Amino acid sequence: MCRLLLIALFVPALAPAWNHVGHKAVAGLAYDLLTPAARSRVDALIARHPDYQRWLTVEAPKEPGARARHAFIQSSYWPDTIKVDLRFYDESRREEPATPTLPGFPDMKRRTNWHYINIAFSADGTPFPPPPPVNALTQINMILGVLEGKITGTSEADPIYLLPWLLHLVGDVHNPMHCTSRWKKDQVDPRTGTPWSDLGGNGVSVVGSFNLHAFWDDALGITDTPGFVNGLVQFLSAKGKEGSTVLEPQTWITEGARFAETVCYNYGSNGTGTRENPVTFSQEYTQRARELARERAALAGRRLAGVLNSRLH
Ligand SMILES: [Zn+2]
Repeated sequence: MCRLLLIALFVPALAPAWNHVGHKAVAGLAYDLLTPAARSRVDALIARHPDYQRWLTVEAPKEPGARARHAFIQSSYWPDTIKVDLRFYDESRREEPATPTLPGFPDMKRRTNWHYINIAFSADGTPFPPPPPVNALTQINMILGVLEGKITGTSEADPIYLLPWLLHLVGDVHNPMHCTSRWKKDQVDPRTGTPWSDLGGNGVSVVGSFNLHAFWDDALGITDTPGFVNGLVQFLSAKGKEGSTVLEPQTWITEGARFAETVCYNYGSNGTGTRENPVTFSQEYTQRARELARERAALAGRRLAGVLNSRLH
């Protein structure tokens, strides 16, 4: 396989994190739990976002309250949509020129490194580096600081721009595969031949799914219609009660990294995860994954409502 293709397949930014369905269900559950004061604040912020009209899709209800909820839900997936939107550019690629800044945006960066933290671990003693300096945790904390008015003066410090990012990132870090990366001696960087990260499970091939990361992204379902999303919101509203008052992002990520190690990577030895020998999941694993994904998504929705209710009143 050509080296460039191999590298492209391993780039974690390509992985969307909970798919559309997961992000929208988290946002829908959170919206339904907002206080009237917080709801009117978020509605006003979302309506002033430069891409607001794009969120009023053909399915958007006409009734103003339902329409505002619809836009809020749609906005939660916006940070993933800009990864393929040509108005934006990938600032991590030196060869990619900046695109012109459009009205209402601080710039047109895709900020693909905001979506995960990937706290490394290794079961075979392979050395690994600390998380990157800019990651999902640093950015959630930054956004909360902006919403509280404690952080001002940077080009990004705009609650209108950052609110969809918050909805998205709280969802992302409740997907355990956004919290960790496994390092193994026999898993090597194709460029250098030295031990490497599996990039949040993107490097673990799985039968019936693109890879381990993608399997978890899709664990909440893949039917992206308002009817399905609202059904999922209703289903999730009975879950995620224990721990829902924990509003410290570091704790959410510590929990996620622990679940990744103990559940997500605990798939037995039916396959090694290479492209030649992909892993096959048992029915028990798949069932456990679905249950954990639903619990984490419900917690994400409740905690998102909690941080918004405590800051926007
Ligand atoms: Zn994401």
